[in-house]
Amino acid sequence: MAKLPTSVDRLIAAFGPHKAYPPQSGFYGAHEPDELVKTHCCYCGMQCGIQLKVKENKVVGFEPWMDFPYNEGRLCPKGVERYLQNNHPDRLMAPIQRVEGEGFEHISWEQAMGKTVSEIRRIQQTYGKDAFAMLSGVSLTNEKSYMMGKFARVALKTANLDYNGRLCMVSAGAGNKKAFGLDRSSNSWADLAHAEVIIVAGANISETFPTLTHYIWRARDQGAKLIVVDPRVIPLARTADLHLDVKPGGDSALFGAMLKILVDNDWLDHEFIADHTVGFQETIEAVKDYDLDWAEVHTGVAKEKIWEAASLWGKAKTSFLLHARGIEHHSKGVDNVLSCINLVLATGRIGKPYCGYGTITGQGNGQGGREHGHKCDQLPGNRDITNPAHRQYIADVWRINESEMPGKGLTAYEQIDAIHRGEIKGLISICFNPLVSLPNNGYVREAFEKLEFYVCIDSFLSETARYADIVMAGSLHEEEEGTVTTAEGRVVKINAAVTPPGNARRDGDIIMELAARLGEADKFSFASSEAIFNELRLASKGGTADYFGITYEKVESQMGIFWPCPSLEHPGTPRLWEDRKFSTPDGKAHFNPVRFKPPTEVTDEDFPVVLTTGRVVSQYLSGTSTRRIGKLVDQYPEPLLEIHPKLASRYGIKTRDLVRVKTRRGEAEFPAQVVETIREDTVFIPYHWGGKHAANQLTIGNLDPISKIPEFKVCACQLIPTGEVASAALTETAYQSDL
Ligand code: SF4
Repeated sequence: MAKLPTSVDRLIAAFGPHKAYPPQSGFYGAHEPDELVKTHCCYCGMQCGIQLKVKENKVVGFEPWMDFPYNEGRLCPKGVERYLQNNHPDRLMAPIQRVEGEGFEHISWEQAMGKTVSEIRRIQQTYGKDAFAMLSGVSLTNEKSYMMGKFARVALKTANLDYNGRLCMVSAGAGNKKAFGLDRSSNSWADLAHAEVIIVAGANISETFPTLTHYIWRARDQGAKLIVVDPRVIPLARTADLHLDVKPGGDSALFGAMLKILVDNDWLDHEFIADHTVGFQETIEAVKDYDLDWAEVHTGVAKEKIWEAASLWGKAKTSFLLHARGIEHHSKGVDNVLSCINLVLATGRIGKPYCGYGTITGQGNGQGGREHGHKCDQLPGNRDITNPAHRQYIADVWRINESEMPGKGLTAYEQIDAIHRGEIKGLISICFNPLVSLPNNGYVREAFEKLEFYVCIDSFLSETARYADIVMAGSLHEEEEGTVTTAEGRVVKINAAVTPPGNARRDGDIIMELAARLGEADKFSFASSEAIFNELRLASKGGTADYFGITYEKVESQMGIFWPCPSLEHPGTPRLWEDRKFSTPDGKAHFNPVRFKPPTEVTDEDFPVVLTTGRVVSQYLSGTSTRRIGKLVDQYPEPLLEIHPKLASRYGIKTRDLVRVKTRRGEAEFPAQVVETIREDTVFIPYHWGGKHAANQLTIGNLDPISKIPEFKVCACQLIPTGEVASAALTETAYQSDL
């Protein structure tokens, strides 16, 4: 049996997050490819079209895909470099198992599968079915998302399945369902380009969904007014008509105050409110005492700006409101979303050309991944696992007795608590890196150390995979055919460009073999990704996320189909609710009263500064792939503490000074970056790094009561200058770009 490095330290050195991959000279285009494969970028929810250059079963470069209608060839820095992940030397090429005190060793698939199945059986026989849990990821295709939901309920027979969208889009999803009965952005981005006023709330579009910026520029070219709500002067805010520098946690106070101004000035669509909504009176009752002085105190935004924003929004004829994690990553995330939706409904600007509302998905399949049943409370088609009719329909599709189907399980962070309590003893994860992405990650690491057995499916040895007993070498985006659903709600086709290298396997094949060994071969005998999709279509039929009329052929020939698409003749639905019949049981859009509540942790004498977190343009989520791509690492090599000059001078901090940031969860040191583009009472750290560089050592695990999303975006901290100056960024010595 071939052994890999014999200590965890050496393994980390070999596979570590700062080992950037220098591309070979001329990799972009010197090789004449064998073929160009039209597919999509593997990273954010925009899913830009791209053509991958393939030579000898390796992705060796890319070409723009000019015809794809969303991005028309445009790509951001991550998209330009994404091809470098495919042939990366860190890539896992075979299953490995941990040898206590030594590191990992290669094993055969027979050993990996045999050990995993025997541990699943042992744990479930000893502690019960739900003692073996599953965590999945929404970078997976729709087909794989669907299969993970089915695998957990049918093969593992556990209730405890959840996904990393729980850290991402769930507040938006819960808000959308409460207000509209359906969870999707209301329009294609084409409508955005013609809106008269655009509000972007908590969405650093230029860095995290960069190609979407083009649609905002198009609107600006036609005279649109842009209002950006963010504690930082993010790139989009620099040219906005209004930047509302909201204090982290003050969002619903801001939107509630704006609603009050709309009411006071009668900037309302009375006909729409009367004919197509319910709950308006209760909603305005909740904000009746909000005046501008109160709003200024609770939001940190000057009252003149709040009034101006409401006036622009109130008087517009067309408008679009977009939001993302900045308002959603809160213990009041659903309230924040609903307070945004209340502004949209009050002015009746939805279900009409150039009038819409969008929730921007961060992960590659953030939209599709939240529809097909790998959430703990959900079945395919966005059905409810507690609804008897929904359960019966899916049980029939899966050919099981409804009574055998597990019920609602624990959410991702609740699973960590359950491991600490000793209720969950075993775990399988795929495409999820909780040791970087979950809050309070010292507590998360302790949970992983308590597991009796942990098996991880991934393409790289992530921080979390290092805690696994077995790591199964899975597939990358370009190694398996399927579909994903973009943030617009457009289902697009992922085409396989290459096969998995070495002894790695397609994720779908791994799951099918595990299911077969668990005795469910007949329910997991899919001959192709298309066969899985065809079962997904049937499972979604009649649900709110209805894909029944979408086929691979339609998706490819039309370069994407917007769901819902309930029949083969149906063209898809780029703009929802044009008939003003909303997807709620009563057909009305629902206002929801929101009363402002402060965040879980507010600043005090001991912890006097607000800490918020987010992303940078060159990195994607927990960085498992992007922290290995040298040219992306060069752009932003290490996490920096952004701090305003006035706050910095109070502590005597200068750029590159090493600052210890301490919260009630932990502490970590970061080099300072003194910038004027942040509120004076707030510091910002990007969260893409693990270990001692992890911002999530500091963040708080308090959850929204409905969506169960953690409060990543606000907690209280201390700043302690260490008196040292940070050394040069790691990659300046570790990697020299050849470009
Ligand atoms: Fe497009 Fe997002 Fe990929 Fe950038 S990361 S190229 S915006 S899909």
